[in-house]
Amino acid sequence: MPTPPPGDLPPDIFRAAAHRVADTTADYLAGVERFPVMPKIAPGDIAKELSAAPPEAAESIDTILDDYKRLIEPNVTHWNHPGFMAYFGITGSGPGVLGEMLAAGLNVNAMLWRTGPAPTELEERVCDWLRQMLNLPPEFRGHINDTASISTMLALAAARERLPGLEIRQHGMAGRLDLPALTIYASEHAHSSVDKAAIALGIGLDYVRRVGADKNFRLDPFVLEQAVAWDRKEGRLPMAIVATAGTTSTTSVDPLKEIAAFCAKEKIWLHVDAAYAGSAAICPEMRTQFEGWEGADSIVVNPHKWLFTPVDCSVLLMRDPERLRAAFSLVPEYLRTNDGALNLMDYGVQLGRRFRSLKLWMVIRAFGVEGIRKRIREHCRLAQKFAEWVRSDGGFEVCAPVPFSTICFRATPLMPPAGQDHFNERLLAEVNAVGPVFLSHTRLNGRYVLRLAIGNLKTEERHVRGAWETVCESARKLLAGG
Ligand code: PLP
Repeated sequence: MPTPPPGDLPPDIFRAAAHRVADTTADYLAGVERFPVMPKIAPGDIAKELSAAPPEAAESIDTILDDYKRLIEPNVTHWNHPGFMAYFGITGSGPGVLGEMLAAGLNVNAMLWRTGPAPTELEERVCDWLRQMLNLPPEFRGHINDTASISTMLALAAARERLPGLEIRQHGMAGRLDLPALTIYASEHAHSSVDKAAIALGIGLDYVRRVGADKNFRLDPFVLEQAVAWDRKEGRLPMAIVATAGTTSTTSVDPLKEIAAFCAKEKIWLHVDAAYAGSAAICPEMRTQFEGWEGADSIVVNPHKWLFTPVDCSVLLMRDPERLRAAFSLVPEYLRTNDGALNLMDYGVQLGRRFRSLKLWMVIRAFGVEGIRKRIREHCRLAQKFAEWVRSDGGFEVCAPVPFSTICFRATPLMPPAGQDHFNERLLAEVNAVGPVFLSHTRLNGRYVLRLAIGNLKTEERHVRGAWETVCESARKLLAGG
């Protein structure tokens, strides 16, 4: 008998293990509240437990899954926990997780239509569903990236390529006397991914103009206009404005209508970073906040933030996707095809791509658009509740408007500002050490502020109430000298 080839796991062993994985995942999701949101471990604790050398001999899947249960599952930060209210709360929802599982089995690399016909066409269709859900005009076409950081970088690369006569894609930027300094504008509250895009695209951090904001943390269009006029006068070339709909600290929305009109007048590319809050536009009553974004050249919305889709999934919607193709399409001989189909590899830097649209398709179908609206509204309702509790307590204040599901707040004990900042810093550490809830912080107008962000589908009023009680008890303990 010839020796069988080494091959993959035998099908019967794979099937049994897949059932165990399904049970493990279902048990985890059903019982996640038994864990503190953040594991009580120190850096290096896990590394100590991991074998330093790879195993020479094969190990059984059961042994590996036992180690997973013992070592990995309890020692992650539980983003799928209803008490996770730090940064932006997110959900790897049931339908989304199932989509990930199926995509893993297919292991498709949809670089070309012919290497992934259904993934390519599903991606286009699902992005168009999202466009319709957001009430954006039909000329917007979307594709999926891993993160908003990459989506923003790609959009800004398209903006750079649109500058007439410069052909940076071909000639680069180095040593060119015909190339003025290119500038990008974003509010002081815009995400750092704008700066990273400027680094990656050779614009340079010196040429990212951080424009001042008003008292509600929204970019001030007057300051923006002055900055652009000044740069033009100095011989620089304004390349793009990044407006944010849902800033990272306070979720403020820049005045999109005014900024869009200004961009149109000045012929400057407008990119809207709606990575977190964009999903709220699925609810018609929220759409006034987004008025003007239909005038953008590009918009990023992350379904992995507030659309219940497992990490990672970021949709970049382009008014004219050909701009992206013009910036990036490059077809080596071995990838040439003549089927006339759209090839996703033409719309960015990466060649290979995961089948991310499957999980988004499953989320939208399993909840329905109306179901998604209900869930977003519930998060906003809970946020308003929390804000009410904070406002009605003389020992705390809400520090920014609450347009969506994130609240910035802080304790206001009778002490000088530096003491208050220190108190709030200790308060956050105390709350997070207690464990059923995980909050994060920011600084507003130089002051230390706590953030509570609701975005997990398991988060109910009792969890938000519990978070508030933990905050109050922790503050009392600190004030009593604990
Ligand atoms: N834009 C905004 C407004 C954000 O809040 C974040 C992250 O929180 C990002 C962009 C970056 O997102 P990603 O992790 O998808 O790159």
